[in-house]
This record gives sequence, structure tokens and C-alpha cells, in this order.
Amino acid sequence: MNVILLGPPGAGKGTQAKRLEQRYSLVQLSTGDMLRAVVASGSDLGRKAKTVMESGQLMPDDLMIQMISDRIEQPDCARGFILDGFPRTTAQAEALDNMLKNKGLKLSGVIEMKVDSEALIERITGRFSCAACGAGYHDRFQRPKVDEVCDSCGGTEFSRRADDNEATVRSRLAAYREQTAPILPYYEEQGVLRSVDGMSDIDEVTRQIETVLAAA
Ligand code: ADP
Ligand code: ZN
Repeated sequence: MNVILLGPPGAGKGTQAKRLEQRYSLVQLSTGDMLRAVVASGSDLGRKAKTVMESGQLMPDDLMIQMISDRIEQPDCARGFILDGFPRTTAQAEALDNMLKNKGLKLSGVIEMKVDSEALIERITGRFSCAACGAGYHDRFQRPKVDEVCDSCGGTEFSRRADDNEATVRSRLAAYREQTAPILPYYEEQGVLRSVDGMSDIDEVTRQIETVLAAA
């Protein structure tokens, strides 16, 4: 099963991808996380990626496709993947289709997470994650059960993304509206687009996604 989660920053893609990963034994391919790992590696590519990401811009398409293509070839992706944060433009959606076709793979579904933009600012500026295992939390909506201890791994170090400040979030939302939202009709024409209400609570959103995937 190969799934794309599509929605603006803060829609809950990462949160839901983590759950789907476990439920269906899929691998979450978060291009943002993949890129942040490249940045942390300090390579030439990493330095380039850092400059691009800090300005709220997008990475070149061929580089992104190559990075995803290499990852899909890994044996752990045999049961399928969940793409989170990609594609972001119609050109990327087309390039992704070509790449998948060459591998004989198909998309099972593209899930649009609908949310209103003011809620997104609050979600994004309040989020943080476990430095050890990546589990996601929120100052208001999803606190760890024990303060400052990760529910998943017991870790006590947490981190916040440098680009999760209000100014950068506003430019990421504008980029979503201008460049990413136009992909929706592209997938609608292919008959693979399904929408869920991303404003519902986290468990309810998971239920909606599972219902949609059961019918896929
Ligand atoms: P994305 O990957 O789409 O950018 P995240 O999954 O990181 O979004 O979610 C952003 C923040 O909002 C996180 O802190 C998360 O805990 C919180 N969140 C996610 N889904 C919901 C929801 N349905 N209701 C309330 N808060 C949510
Ligand atoms: Zn953890």
C-alpha cells in the first residue's frame, strides 16, 4: 500500500503517518525529516539544503525524486510507504508518478487533510518532538503523559524545529496555497484523492483515514 498524505504544514501529516506506519507496517517517508538528516550530516548537499530550507523555499525536484527513489528501493519499504511532505508542486507529482511507474508501483490513495489556517499557526508553533525517537508532541494538544518524558522511548531530550516560528510558518502556508494546493485536482482526475477532516481530534482523524484506506 502506497499512500500520500497531503495538507498544509501542521495539518497532522507526521502525527498520522506515525500511526499508519504501525497499523499497516508501512514506512513513513517524511521528506522534511530526510532533508533535515542530510543537513545534520554537514555534507555539501546538507549545507545547500540548509540555506534553501531556512528561506522557506523548496529543494530542486530532481534531487528530491532521487532521494525518495533510493529510499523506496530499501527492503523495509517492500510493504509500502507513506509519503509525508511530498509532492509539493504539480511538477513533483508528475515526476513522482513517472518514477513509480518505472518501478511498477502505484498509489493506493492520496489523502487530503483539510484544516483551517489559523489553527495551523497554533499547532505548529506549539509542536516539539523527542530528540531520541522522533515522537511528536504539542504544548497544548498532545503533552507527554509524564512531563518532559517521552511516552514512546522514555527519552528526556526534546527539540523544536528552527522553521516552526510564526513568520516562517506564514510563508510556508502561502507556499502551500500557491504551489501545493493546485495538485489536488491532478489527483482528483486520477480518481485517487480522498479527503478527511483534519480539524477533528487525532484519534478521529486516524479513524477517518483507516476508513478511506479500507475502501482503497
Ligand atoms: P505536519 O506533519 O502536517 O506538519 P504534525 O503532525 O507535525 O503536522 O502536527 C502539528 C502539530 O499539531 C503537532 O504538535 C501535533 O501534535 C498537533 N496535531 C496534529 N494533529 C492534530 C489534531 N487532529 N488536533 C490537534 N492537534 C494536532
Ligand atoms: Zn522518544
